[in-house]
Amino acid sequence: MERTYIMLKPDCVKRGLMGEVIKRIEDKGFKITNMKMMTLTEEILNEHYAHISDMPFFPGIVEYMTSGPVVGMIVEGDNAVLGMRILMGATKYEDAAAGTIRGDFATSTGNNIIHGSDSVENGEIEIKRFFGPDA
Ligand code: UDP
Ligand code: MG
Repeated sequence: MERTYIMLKPDCVKRGLMGEVIKRIEDKGFKITNMKMMTLTEEILNEHYAHISDMPFFPGIVEYMTSGPVVGMIVEGDNAVLGMRILMGATKYEDAAAGTIRGDFATSTGNNIIHGSDSVENGEIEIKRFFGPDA
């Protein structure tokens, strides 16, 4: 059994798409074992998005990600990391295939509805970042 960190981004919450996205995760057979709504700080985003913090678009990402609440989740299942990345679709919204969450709902690469960990190792780091060291 594998775990991944999933986060419904502010555009997902604002547009009333939480139920739709959660349904897709559950329909695929993944289990949501913890979930919380929270408002992110710039500090935690600098850590979470350290790999893109030098990019010119990063200030816009911080503004967007702090513009309203997000929903963090621990999602478990066989190959949950890769399986969720496939359900989510590509990062670039124009590349995200129809039928994926981003392909169906993202309105730009910045406003792309959902975050999912990119490796098992990062999944564990992200779960602890958002749910604490005992999670
Ligand atoms: N992002 C962006 N422009 C880019 C690359 C990334 O706005 O050219 C944003 C996008 O919202 C993405 C997030 O930064 O989801 C994190 O980037 P990453 O490369 O980790 O993509 P992800 O893992 O979310 O698919
Ligand atoms: Mg990523």
